Amino acid sequence: MSGELRIHSFFTSLQGEGRFAGYPSAFLRLSGCNLACVWCDAHEAASGVQPEMLRVADAAEQLIRSGLRDICITGGEPLLQEPAVGELLALLPADRRVVIETNGSIPFTALRKRFPALYFSADWKTPSSHDARFARSNLAAIGERGWIKFVVAERRDLDFVADHAPEAAAHGIELYVSPVFERGAVWYAEVAAFVTSLSETHPARFQLQLHKVLGIP
Ligand code: SF4
Repeated sequence: MSGELRIHSFFTSLQGEGRFAGYPSAFLRLSGCNLACVWCDAHEAASGVQPEMLRVADAAEQLIRSGLRDICITGGEPLLQEPAVGELLALLPADRRVVIETNGSIPFTALRKRFPALYFSADWKTPSSHDARFARSNLAAIGERGWIKFVVAERRDLDFVADHAPEAAAHGIELYVSPVFERGAVWYAEVAAFVTSLSETHPARFQLQLHKVLGIP
């Protein structure tokens, strides 16, 4: 019997961040989150108000019907619905490139073991988010099929990245540093200089969130 997912929305757009930025992707945005970040750009989904309930099989069918190779399961926090998400992943064809976007606060080692081909895009929250929780066990679970994104809004966030990047880099994880889009060009330049200064010890990639630049979902 198919379980159900609490859904906020389904849409197609360009992937805005991470390794597959710029590729067209089908997005399934799930409803509800366990964090309350100041810079949340998905308030409606995070709040979990009035979600639509959708059978897992129907969600899989919608994603497959998009015809797109890339599929992104985002939120909110998708891992709050891990059993149903696992059911969904099992229904997706092997030729799809599936990314779970997570805030990294919920351990996903079991899901990684079950789906070795899955990609994890883990957002390691910085102090300005006011909710910087991260499950360290996830570092080993990310591996080469995944990356960590630090979204930075203030100088203290850069200090946080400098402190934590070595730990992530020691696991061979690809790192991205994204300035909060609303902070503007002066801040982007400061973040770019910071990323350059990191390059010898623990290389990271500067990334502007493409969907925000383009004003698309
Ligand atoms: S983890 Fe993501 S969805 Fe949840 S509150 Fe923070 S930014 Fe919003």
